[in-house]
Amino acid sequence: MTVLDDNLGKLATFLEPFRDIGIRNRIAGQDVAGSEGVFQSTSPVDKSVICDVARGGAQDIDAAARAAADAFAEWRDMPATRRREILHAVADAIETRAEEIALCECWDTGQAVRFMSKAALRGAENFRYFADQVVQARDGQHLRSPSLMNVTTRVPIGPVGVITPWNTPFMLSTWKIAPALAAGCTVVHKPAEASPLTARLLVEIAEQAGLPPGVLNTVNGFGEEAGKALCEHPAIRAIAFVGESRTGSLITRQGADTLKRNHLELGGKNPVIVFEDADLDRALDAVIFMIYSINGERCTSSSRLLVQDSIREAFEAKLAERVNAIRVGHPLDPATEVGPLISEEHYRKVTSYFDIAREDGATVAAGGEKIGEAGYFVRPTLFTNATNQMRIAREEIFGPVLTSIPFSTEDAALQIANDTAYGLTAYLWTNDLTRALRFTDRLEAGMIWVNSENVRHLPTPFGGVKASGIGRDGGDWSFEFYMEQKHIGFATGAHQIPRLGVQ
Ligand code: NAD
Repeated sequence: MTVLDDNLGKLATFLEPFRDIGIRNRIAGQDVAGSEGVFQSTSPVDKSVICDVARGGAQDIDAAARAAADAFAEWRDMPATRRREILHAVADAIETRAEEIALCECWDTGQAVRFMSKAALRGAENFRYFADQVVQARDGQHLRSPSLMNVTTRVPIGPVGVITPWNTPFMLSTWKIAPALAAGCTVVHKPAEASPLTARLLVEIAEQAGLPPGVLNTVNGFGEEAGKALCEHPAIRAIAFVGESRTGSLITRQGADTLKRNHLELGGKNPVIVFEDADLDRALDAVIFMIYSINGERCTSSSRLLVQDSIREAFEAKLAERVNAIRVGHPLDPATEVGPLISEEHYRKVTSYFDIAREDGATVAAGGEKIGEAGYFVRPTLFTNATNQMRIAREEIFGPVLTSIPFSTEDAALQIANDTAYGLTAYLWTNDLTRALRFTDRLEAGMIWVNSENVRHLPTPFGGVKASGIGRDGGDWSFEFYMEQKHIGFATGAHQIPRLGVQ
């Protein structure tokens, strides 16, 4: 028996509970059918139906928001040490069920198991990291003035909405939900309609680990129904959103009447800039990893390669050879490096760029083809001879597709790197220290890595500039979003109070 067969056998067992009853919403610790009926979740591997999923709408969101509001006071006022214990128990339970989470995620999204097994564990790490911050999250400052002892404290903002996308959905959900819970907020989670499986596992795991009912509620459904209603609900104080930039605008608009605080983590068209003086072997590994891992369905992927003229030909030749050798296959096979794209709609979008590239005059140096009809598989693709004005350089393709653009000087590289609507990440490869200092200072991106691929460290700020988002996650930045600063001034004596109406 191969590992793939073994994984398929395990997957069948893990999916068993969903076959008959499907995925229902979870509100106040209860399974609830969707008020708008059901929709079907399908696997991108072979287009087969996985199960029915509750289709939530305004009514379900209202019930979930009320449940989150009802559960808020108890969760907020629970001793921090107890909250910490519960969140650690959630992390433990995620680790115990990591294989189930990983296999379900792969089947639901098409992501390769070699990356997703780590994503499940990163989900546990997110809970653990923020659990350890719970006790000091409310700590404030003491700012003494002549007549007052001024203190600050932080309090959780209230019930919040979390809206997540379909790429690495488990990891991203925990990335938002763990700090919200650690801050003392209660949550209504609206997972992406294309990948509902692991959000269901998360709420189940959390409740079994001791999270009180109503503290985390999950409402499935479509963005324009359940998602919109969540943004508009008056009991929901903030929305943590991860998704496309144009949806980010809708989130802002929809939350205007209820004055929502929004945190937006949006799209990217991130540059990786390779100078001739760089360690080119390491740069090549990182360039390939940062666009072809996770199916290229990754907000931080380096989808634009900016390569110096002098090394371009040799670098692109090696790149094309490696891209052609990337193993595309069944996501549950541990040898697979690229699996199928998430959905038919996304598959159509990604493959449309193969023609767009040719029409715009770029060269398809690798890939540029669909693979079979059974699922949404495409060949890892490399476009060369591109300019930064082409659509393949300007639009977020969100697939295993890299656009290579040449540059001659440092100034030209910087101009091309910044000539984009987005500003999430950038990657710089050079061994010239002063150039690295100069260049990173002028790059327009929320996160930059020098001589490295994206290596996430939870205490560091995560987020983008320009059309890539507003706000930061990570470390204390997450608490800044999920909590309110409160100032309290205590008089230390009988200072003079202005007296009105005194004759
Ligand atoms: P999407 O914007 O289509 O959907 C994301 C979520 O928003 C889904 O749950 C969807 O149902 C919901 N939604 C859609 N319309 C809505 C509306 N009107 N009101 C409320 N909710 C609504 O994004 P996607 O296609 O699922 O995900 C891919 C995108 O996510 C890419 O652009 C990618 O770059 C981005 N992303 C960004 C980050 C980051 O940290 N910056 C991380 C991962 C993904």
